[in-house]
Amino acid sequence: MNIFRKFYCRTYQQIFHIAIPFMPYREPKILENMDEVVKTLKEEKIDKVMLATDKSIRGLGLTKELEDALTRANLSYVVYDDILPNPTIDMVEEGLKIYLKNNCKAMIAFGGGSVMDCAKVILARVAKPKKSVQKMKGLLKIRKKLHPLFAVPTTAGTGSETTLAAVITDGKSHYKYAINDFSLIPKYAVLDYRTTLNLPKFITATTGMDALTHAVEAYIGKSTTKKTRRMAEDAVKLIVKNLKLAYDEPHNEEARKNMLRASFYAGVAFTISYVGYVHAIAHSLGGQYGVAHGFANAVILPHALKRYGKSAQKKLSKLAKTSMIADEKDDDKTASEKMIKFIESLNSYFEIPTKIKELKAEDIPGLALKADKEANPLYPVPKLFNKKELEEIYKELLVE
Ligand SMILES: [Zn+2]
Repeated sequence: MNIFRKFYCRTYQQIFHIAIPFMPYREPKILENMDEVVKTLKEEKIDKVMLATDKSIRGLGLTKELEDALTRANLSYVVYDDILPNPTIDMVEEGLKIYLKNNCKAMIAFGGGSVMDCAKVILARVAKPKKSVQKMKGLLKIRKKLHPLFAVPTTAGTGSETTLAAVITDGKSHYKYAINDFSLIPKYAVLDYRTTLNLPKFITATTGMDALTHAVEAYIGKSTTKKTRRMAEDAVKLIVKNLKLAYDEPHNEEARKNMLRASFYAGVAFTISYVGYVHAIAHSLGGQYGVAHGFANAVILPHALKRYGKSAQKKLSKLAKTSMIADEKDDDKTASEKMIKFIESLNSYFEIPTKIKELKAEDIPGLALKADKEANPLYPVPKLFNKKELEEIYKELLVE
């Protein structure tokens, strides 16, 4: 990247960094089970809610306990379960219609990142009926309090239960973009590990790698705070200890509980300190080919960390040492290499490949342009890459 653009990006990032203490960041209140959800709805005097989820989650019976609890408490609810991975504007509009028609006063988003992101944008549309989803793209375009959102993550995770972001895909152009506003931070995060006990192994692995990517990208970036560094370190420690365990023993309650915590901490860390190029590249691949988010991140993470080279060494070394992947006496280079090797070994244990099979060489310039647009100047990455430099990372992901 040329020196002028570098200067522009770093200045832009620094302004946001300096502004952190003045921004209305808040953390969702943690609820531990469905009874607490019902109790809170009663306290908030809400009598009608929308349950946003997807058909497979509801089909597995995961929402049954909640639905029974709502019925027992005489709380009426309407279900919208047509949300699919990489939610589109059409899904938002469909959900909005149902929400308004039924006079709902709050939303329970029960699912993974896609469900939560779609639910957030439905509520944003309720608050801003005249503003289209396209117009909400970017930073702080909503600026209005939303109806209460209860986020019940069924994966650990996307961290969407804590973040101010929602990622939506334009069904026509395949462009995937983020909407960021403080009002999108859910009011409540329902961390009930029982919702994750039946998660398929591969989803456990890829969503866990997503949480790891959040923690690592936030940590190695240049806009950390004392709090986000601690949150990211805690998340990585928990993931190192529990992800393989949750994968090998899906019903291990302790491991599931800890992974939900890790996902939450990593979510708080990246909400304040941002992600980096791994996410920008993953979003472009999700938009173009529908590649699942966590999977894409898992594949890209070691490639990007190697590209960052020396600029991320010190921080990666610290992460490796606090999570006992490296020895205290290792120098930064050795310890950071151990961190990257550890990530690669997790990927291979989970049978996650090192390439993206959907990626086509001729699409790379367009994809790199999208990643460049998403990340620069906003993401405070350890080393800045322009479109051409990003293309090099995509080339490494090509199946020969
Ligand atoms: Zn992510």
